[in-house]
Amino acid sequence: MNMENLLEKTKILSVVIFKAGGRTFDYSDPKGLASLGSIVQTSFGRKMIFGIVIEMKEDSDVPSNQLKPIQAVLPAPFCINQNQMQLLKWLSQYYQVAIGRLVTSCFPLTVLADSAPLRPYVGGYALDHQQVGRLTKAQKACVTWMQASEHRVFTIDLLLEALFSKRTIHALIDQQVLVPFQDHELPQIHLSQMQSAVFEKISQHQGPDLLYGVTGSGKTHIYMALTQKVIQEGHQVLILVPEIGLTPQTMARFVAHLGVSVTQWHSKLSDSQRKSVWSAVSQNQIAVVIGTRSALFLPFRQLKLIILDEEHDLSFYQQGYPSYSVRDAAVVLAKQSQAKIVLGSATPSMESWSNVIKQKYSLLELNQSFSQAEKHIHIVDMRREKLIDQIAKPILDRAQVVLDQGRQMLFFLNRRGYHPVTLCHACGWVMKCDHCDVKLNYSKITHSLRCHLCQKYYSLPTACGHCASDEIIQAGLGTERLTESLQALFPSVPVIRIDADTMQSANSWVRVRKQIQKGEPMLIVGTQMIAKGHDFHHLTDVAIMDTDHALYATDFRSIERWGQMIFQVAGRCGRGQEGGHIWVQSHIPHHPALPMIQAGQYDALMNFLIEQRQAALWPPFSFCAKVKDLANHQQALLERLKYWQTQIQHHQVEVLGPIIPPVSKRNNAFHGYLLLKSKERDPLFHVCHELVKLGAVVEVDPQELDH
Ligand code: ADP
Ligand code: ZN
Ligand code: ZN
Repeated sequence: MNMENLLEKTKILSVVIFKAGGRTFDYSDPKGLASLGSIVQTSFGRKMIFGIVIEMKEDSDVPSNQLKPIQAVLPAPFCINQNQMQLLKWLSQYYQVAIGRLVTSCFPLTVLADSAPLRPYVGGYALDHQQVGRLTKAQKACVTWMQASEHRVFTIDLLLEALFSKRTIHALIDQQVLVPFQDHELPQIHLSQMQSAVFEKISQHQGPDLLYGVTGSGKTHIYMALTQKVIQEGHQVLILVPEIGLTPQTMARFVAHLGVSVTQWHSKLSDSQRKSVWSAVSQNQIAVVIGTRSALFLPFRQLKLIILDEEHDLSFYQQGYPSYSVRDAAVVLAKQSQAKIVLGSATPSMESWSNVIKQKYSLLELNQSFSQAEKHIHIVDMRREKLIDQIAKPILDRAQVVLDQGRQMLFFLNRRGYHPVTLCHACGWVMKCDHCDVKLNYSKITHSLRCHLCQKYYSLPTACGHCASDEIIQAGLGTERLTESLQALFPSVPVIRIDADTMQSANSWVRVRKQIQKGEPMLIVGTQMIAKGHDFHHLTDVAIMDTDHALYATDFRSIERWGQMIFQVAGRCGRGQEGGHIWVQSHIPHHPALPMIQAGQYDALMNFLIEQRQAALWPPFSFCAKVKDLANHQQALLERLKYWQTQIQHHQVEVLGPIIPPVSKRNNAFHGYLLLKSKERDPLFHVCHELVKLGAVVEVDPQELDH
């Protein structure tokens, strides 16, 4: 075969088509324009659309005279580089998802359609006084504010927080009044003795590290020191966080210590910001990306450090289809890129904890908080207490003391609305959504019932839907009602509610945070929204209202998650000098997990749970996968699941189910699954692989069994 023939034969491309849900089609490339990972334009039907080359091959099932040629190839950096391709291939194999589906969900396609000029999008800006020329009134106000400010570096979040609009800020960037902050001498980061020891160990050690340290123990400080070292060597750093929008302080702190080449990446960026970051990262112009989970797929050139903070957080598991663990993918990416990875948390996940025991990860501990303040956890036995609106008397007495001392107290209740349940007094009928298996939640403000799953509103019923009795009662305690009760009990102080209903816009959060930071005595009612990473310096006490259900739940992870949540919420208080008190209300104070909570010993809780997992052979002592399905009727669903069941024949794989989760009906579809469990990974993977070939949807290492 001569050379010409060979070339001829290598011009077939396997292209993932975005518009076709990630399915792959073959095209020819007569001019040899494309390479692996290229983004190409092709015709599809009558339209021109984008696709990504995921394979270059010699043969196709399509006869060569019927292969369509690609039309154009986008210039770099709009392509997928080899490192990214390698990661996608691993994800595809491990999570049993077609690579096309992964490619389409990981590549931010919308940036290709954006034709705006590239505006530098960096972590920090400085004011260029020379450029201050003709400005609109709003722009002038912003400039005046900056001139009067004590800051040298302005992050976009800082300006948004000062209530300037995105439009004003972007206009100032376009007019180069705001220019990327240049700092030639970064401030030195001073580490304590304990931090230095940890820093040295991390720097010298290969392989993943688990940094286990209570809130306020200085983990972020270590992240910054590690990052500084890596960027001084000209390399890149990826810092993954569960969410970014609610903690602009972290961003400001990084910019102040690491300088201009820090940027962020999350779902709220505009297309042009995304485009700017994507291209700057691929050219190594951005050294540090702080981002949420999708930042994992950025085209790094010189990635040498990955930090994954709050590694236990469930948002690092991408649910739905495709589903995968961002934490595990990050560990793989680190290995592939020969980068260092540090997983940090005050409440590490059981998976990482056991990886330390298996010596796959090394454990580094920081066991002292910088505030030196003591924290005390109290279990309040509800069975013997007088309750006022489901709050035990000692907690109300304590709230009075806290307020008298001029401090703040948080009431943690993970349930929104006013009354979470509407029922018939005569027959017990509970009002549920027509489309979902969900109790309707009554909100007093909107005077309506709402399904928190599909968001449909209902008016209040006048009669029972079952027995026609008119004795409809509202029951249960939601944040709206708790706020009202507390306001009635403590009329002289503000009671602020922080939940998904009151925090719909970014501005509401900014305002509330300002109000809390003023430090005046107040009560705060919050859902899990408040549990993540916020610093409230005047908050000394937290009451945890009602979490007993987690102790009864059937999901083997529920106590682990409950423990993490209690320690995370506890971490919100006592950041000032006064120390903190956490009051956990419970009707089952004899539960074996509670003494460990009371002693503040997360590691004891982990060791207790690990024994349970081992005895019952749950992960990490076995491997699980879900085979998921859905149907219009429960019966049809069961039949489908039973069909999958007949397709599984492997003596090493146990099949549990069909399992119909508590909320099976969602948006008119009934969801259920089979749970596959195996002591060894390979047989489980083999079974999953066969099922996927038959068209099943599997979820590997599922994180939630109640859905
Ligand atoms: P974590 O990330 O573990 O919650 P941080 O890094 O945010 O902890 O540190 C908690 C507080 O202690 C912060 O206010 C930080 O500025 C301070 N801090 C951390 N390390 C040092 C240090 N080496 N010297 C002085 N203050 C420090
Ligand atoms: Zn009834
Ligand atoms: Zn609904």
